[in-house]
Amino acid sequence: MKFLPYVVMFLLSLNLSATSGTKTHCLYKPDTGKETKDYNEPKRNAPLKALIVDGQNNHAVWPKSTIMMKQYLEETGLFQVDVYRTKFTWGAEREKEYLPLAGVGETTDLENPQQDPNFFPEFKNYDVVISNFGWKAADWPENAQKALENYMSSGGGFVSVHAANNSFPDWLEYNKMIGLGGWGDRTEKDGPYVYYTNEGELIRDISPGKSGAHGPSHIFPITLRIKDHPITNGMPEVWLTTEDECYAQLRGPAENMTILATGKDVSGKAPTDRHEPMLMVVDYGEGRIFHTALGHDDFSIESVGFIISFLRGAEWAATGKVTIPIPHDFPTAEESSSRVFKLKNDSK
Ligand SMILES: [Zn+2]
Repeated sequence: MKFLPYVVMFLLSLNLSATSGTKTHCLYKPDTGKETKDYNEPKRNAPLKALIVDGQNNHAVWPKSTIMMKQYLEETGLFQVDVYRTKFTWGAEREKEYLPLAGVGETTDLENPQQDPNFFPEFKNYDVVISNFGWKAADWPENAQKALENYMSSGGGFVSVHAANNSFPDWLEYNKMIGLGGWGDRTEKDGPYVYYTNEGELIRDISPGKSGAHGPSHIFPITLRIKDHPITNGMPEVWLTTEDECYAQLRGPAENMTILATGKDVSGKAPTDRHEPMLMVVDYGEGRIFHTALGHDDFSIESVGFIISFLRGAEWAATGKVTIPIPHDFPTAEESSSRVFKLKNDSK
């Protein structure tokens, strides 16, 4: 009789899942062959599984930023993180000492990005997939593209970090997932520019033109546009980045996309005089995407604003909820805040 309340709770939860509206997301169960998770259980007993995919990025920080993000995620106690890397890498030289820490074996760094024909991560084994690819990354093989599409449309989670929104300009479904992208010959054919005016009006602008621009890295203000989303809830309305690029003139399908926060380039060399999308969420089928345009280099990724929005975005993409609190060292409208990255000794 002792477990009867649990049976009742289970039946109740079934009933809730069946009647709680058009999009529950909680119906998604990763096909791991293991027992399925109840996300209402304390996370420490059942860590979320995250996969960082990387290997080809014009940002030379990438071998290090993968390890930084892995460590940030694992330090929350919520995530267990694997890395999946292309066999042929590009741009790995500057931070090559971080390569072995990913635990993915030997890779070969090439002069130019080249497709890894065997690249096939088992997306379905993960609660969230994080892309640390960048500009000019070689296309994934078609079966890997289709696998990501299936994983996402059936309720997966995805996080696009900084130049991951430069990748794969010709892959339509990927562009639907990220909502907005930059460079790679994206133009009006790919969708509108989306931004906020200085007066706070949300604009979808179909005028012709190229996509992707930024001024120099600098500290700039982030303004929340949606304050009660789980990812932004409790953040100050305006907060400062560390030195980072304020991406501008992004364009893309922008379907089922919500801009949570914008950035305003105050470098004096801004490509636009408007507030550009920095933190976004996108629904793709039953899947959830968190897109951060922040994270240009290690000093940008040490920003507490980057770290916390990234972690909350990853948790939200994985579960639809956020339990990670806003820490005391979160930046304000007056003060930038960063945490110097220290590699943990027990990293792989
Ligand atoms: Zn950059």
